[in-house]
Parts: sequence; C-alpha cells; structure tokens
Amino acid sequence: MEDITKENKIRLSGLDKNELENFMESLGEKKFRASQILSWLYTKNASNFDEMTDIKKDLREKLSEISYITDVKIKTKQISTDGTLKYLLEYKDGQTAECVLMRFDNRANLTACVSSQIGCAMGCKFCATGQRGIIRNLEPYEILEQILTIQRDTGLKVTNVVFMGQGEPFNNYNNMMRAIELINNCLMIGIRRITVSTCGIVPKIYDISNEELIPTLAISLHAPNSALREQIMPVEKRYNIEELKKALKFYTEKTGKRVTLEYVLIGRLNDTKECAAELAYFMKDLKCNVNLIPYNPVNTDINFKKPDKKDIMKFKYILEASGKKVTVRLERGADIDAACGQLKGRVEK
Ligand code: SAH
Ligand code: SF4
Repeated sequence: MEDITKENKIRLSGLDKNELENFMESLGEKKFRASQILSWLYTKNASNFDEMTDIKKDLREKLSEISYITDVKIKTKQISTDGTLKYLLEYKDGQTAECVLMRFDNRANLTACVSSQIGCAMGCKFCATGQRGIIRNLEPYEILEQILTIQRDTGLKVTNVVFMGQGEPFNNYNNMMRAIELINNCLMIGIRRITVSTCGIVPKIYDISNEELIPTLAISLHAPNSALREQIMPVEKRYNIEELKKALKFYTEKTGKRVTLEYVLIGRLNDTKECAAELAYFMKDLKCNVNLIPYNPVNTDINFKKPDKKDIMKFKYILEASGKKVTVRLERGADIDAACGQLKGRVEK
C-alpha cells in the first residue's frame, strides 16, 4: 500500500460491506472495522474520518492518508417555501446534476428524487432535461451520493427514493441496479420504497422483472394512444404503447406488484374527456394506479399550457369511475424549479 499517492486514493463512498472488508484486510486490519466504517458512512453520515470516534486514531490517520470519503460537492442548495430542498451537486469531472428532497407535512416520509444521468437522450417535448441532450451516465456511487449528501446536510434519514430526476434510468441500467442494491443494503431503504420511473424502454422492463431485487415501477405514459404519444414522446416510435402494455403486464404478473402510470396533463392536448375515457380503457386489464401530473411550464419552444383545474378534476373523476386509484401530484418546490420536469442541472441561459 506504500505506493498509493494522493492522486489514487481509494474512495470509500459506494463501497459495500464486502468491499470494505477486503480493504480492511489489505491493511492488515480486522474485518469488524469494516462494519464500523460502514455504519459511519451510511448510517451516521460521516463527512470526515475524525468523526469516526470508535476507530482507533492511528487507523483513522492511515485511512485519511490512503482514502477519502467522497469527491461529490454541493454546488448550490435552494429551499422552497413548501420545505422542498433542491441541491445541485458537482461531480469530480465538474459535471452537475440535481437531486430534490420532498417532505410531506402529513407524513413521516422523506422522499429523495434522484437523477440517473446528466441530461437525457429521450427528448420528450415537455421536459427540460430532454432539451439538454445526454451528457453522460452517472456512476452507482454518484447516484448513492445524492441521498447521502441530503442526509449529511440535513441530518435527516431519507425513507423513500424515486428515480424521477434527470435522465432515463433504464438507459443506465447496470449502474441504476447497482445503486439500488447499495441504497437497499447500505442505506437500508426497503425495496418497496424505491421507485424507478421510465419513459418505456421495453426490453429493460422485461429485464427488471427478472431481477432478484425489483423496485416499484412507474411508467411515463402521458397519452392513451400511439398517435398522441408520438407527438410528445419520441420513444413511442421505438417502443409503441401496445408493446409497452405487454411488458407492463409481464412485470405485474411476474412480480405481483402494481405499476404506477404517470400522466402529465397538458392543457387541451391530452387532458380531454375523450383521452380520459381512452386511458380508462387502456388500463382496464392492467394492475395499476395513476398519478396525474399537471404540466409544469418549462422554457422550450413548444407552447404547451397548464391544464385547467376543472379539467384535472374531470379527468380524475373519469379514471376513478373505472375503479383505479388516482392521485394528482402536488406541485412541490415550483418556486425553486424543483418540480417535475424542471430539473436541468446547470442552467445554460
Ligand atoms: N426519465 C424518466 C424519469 C425522469 S422524469 C421518465 O421519463 O419517466 C420524472 C417525471 O416527470 C416523468 O413522468 C416525466 O414525464 C415528468 N415530467 C417531465 N417534464 C415535465 C413537465 N414539464 N411537467 C410535468 N411533469 C414532467
Ligand atoms: Fe428523459 Fe424522462 Fe425527460 Fe423524457 S421525461 S426527456 S425520458 S428525463
């Protein structure tokens, strides 16, 4: 280990118990040290080695010579009037991505909304991230760090994680799965409290249905038929709504879990009674519930409008009459651009 220079110090964030045990053994230390470090990293949210008071001083010194906890920094932090926090994180190559912490007054839940990529290649017409194009995938620890950063900064324990920030998680499948494993094993967040949202990368829906650790699935549907979906989501040309439905049925049957259909309501485009009726028909034989998301205006060339309140209620009513559970997503953090679809990373204006 003597030849380890500052430049190639070992990063501890993102290592699991096994990897930490191997690291300790390589230093000639006892295995149980790994459990102590694990707890400091992921339960007690340590940001430096001095905090690790039950680890003997000479080992702490050695650790700080040859390793470091993280290289992810908070670049900016914004607080919304409703308590939503938005962080812009900076990664070691200078790229940035956002994560959001949502608190719901009436619940003990603290939900972290994480990004899976920097930018996104899918180009949905209503989405700010989509207008940016894809820059790169995030590494598993770069995803995990979003939750850890929130915990270190607030001293609070995140209870739920949704992959609904920037990026298409299924376009970064392996890193997403490893991040889920770490979130589940190291941060001890139950798999049922982890939700992945996808625009509908069909082959990956089959893949995830066959995993050992299967998160809850949310699908960005946004239209009840192929023609309308194609107008707002380029992915429809690749994997159409019928193929998507087949894959969703496979997921629900294989896992016994329900899927959530997300539906962004855009004023006078997909929020009509006819669309609601068609959507009700589409999901009749699907084990699902629906989350209606009023469109958040973003700065794109396209002139989409917010839906009217009364149209939202009508839409909801028609779906409920078909026996599905329907929720309307509250707009969280709209004053700090932390609402759905508004995450862009570093805003280039
Ligand atoms: N790429 C994934 C996850 C990130 S987007 C996906 O598309 O599912 C998280 C959710 O926000 C998706 O349902 C997305 O369609 C929605 N969204 C994007 N732009 C929005 C906007 N301007 N207003 C409301 N919701 C938006
Ligand atoms: Fe990408 Fe999701 Fe935005 Fe579509 S809605 S562009 S898939 S982040």
